[in-house]
Amino acid sequence: MKLKIAVLAGDGIGPEVTREAVNILQAVAEAGGHEFTFSEALLGGVAITAKGTPLPQETIDTALDSEAVLLGAVGDNKFNHLTPDKRPESGLLQIRQILGGFANLRPAVAYPALAENSPLRSNVTQGVDILFVRELLGGLYFSQPRFWNKETGEAVNTMRYTRDEVVRVARIAFDLAARRRKKLTSVDKANVLECSQLWRATVDSLKPEYPEITVEHQLVDSMAMHLMNVPRNFDVVLTENLFGDILSDESGIITGSLGMLPSATIGGRINLYEPVHGSAPDIAGMGKANPLGAILTAAMVLRHSAGLEQEAAAVEAAVQQVLTAGHRTADIAGRKAAVSTQQMGKLVHAALAESIDRSQSLHAV
Ligand code: NAD
Repeated sequence: MKLKIAVLAGDGIGPEVTREAVNILQAVAEAGGHEFTFSEALLGGVAITAKGTPLPQETIDTALDSEAVLLGAVGDNKFNHLTPDKRPESGLLQIRQILGGFANLRPAVAYPALAENSPLRSNVTQGVDILFVRELLGGLYFSQPRFWNKETGEAVNTMRYTRDEVVRVARIAFDLAARRRKKLTSVDKANVLECSQLWRATVDSLKPEYPEITVEHQLVDSMAMHLMNVPRNFDVVLTENLFGDILSDESGIITGSLGMLPSATIGGRINLYEPVHGSAPDIAGMGKANPLGAILTAAMVLRHSAGLEQEAAAVEAAVQQVLTAGHRTADIAGRKAAVSTQQMGKLVHAALAESIDRSQSLHAV
């Protein structure tokens, strides 16, 4: 298969971790005879330095000419004096809007080898594999009116959803649940909010189209508790923008390090893939960054843009294997010795190559 990937590595540790993710995608392409092409473009602080703007037109053109955008991270303290609309992060917000994805996918997976990195007990996290589907373009973050009137001392944000907005993100969640353990948990606050009542009724109205999926509804406050008590009970969790923002961050605790978390934003013109972490200026250029979040993000590119499910699972298994063998970057090392960003990338690459060799020799038999 062919895939045109725009690579926006960004600032800080962005280029370091993105390099390792691209290496993994190249390895998959070579092994399977796929044609992945990579076009690099500037975003964030590096773009301000080179072009005077965090999102140059060339970057927009490169992104729109691609079939998937792989982003590293943006943010550089040296631009903190600029107004928010001129800072590196504004380039990220703009590119997200241009690409138009409305469904943000955030996996929360417990890796047995990292059980001691989570503050939760291992018998709670064991076997946890949740996929959050967060609505990204509606709700409180975007609806009008919104204002802060400093004279009257009044501030307003509005939560508005239409049935169509709920339908399109709910369908994505149902489809993903169908490819996983066939359970969908929809989270709302239907005991108080009309928006949530619309949300719940809309999800229920789609149930007859997906008879194989078990659907349950949870109120967001009790969901926050269940996620920490019985996270194993959840498969796909669908929710609106604000609740999804909070719950998916809360669930980061299950994996144990920000550097391990991937994400994808789908449903728009072009899918956008990015690790959850920022540019980590405190460790940039030191070879200390954990590239596994970016590598697991590459697995999401394979799954959601290339349709290569087996290859995506092979990358995820290679990450598991390397962790199980005891290799750690500094953020997850605890008292163990740490490997560098590049060494971690090479270890995953080697584990993946080994599993590809094994499966190719099995096919040959
Ligand atoms: P951050 O995610 O960059 O870092 C938080 C902490 O986690 C730091 O101690 C950092 O060293 C550590 N960390 C993050 N990723 C890591 C990795 N892969 N491996 C090892 N350790 C890792 O968040 P922050 O410090 O709040 O923000 C730094 C900059 O990044 C700011 O300019 C912020 O605006 C920006 N930011 C960008 C994004 C994005 O690009 N999506 C997201 C969050 C923050």
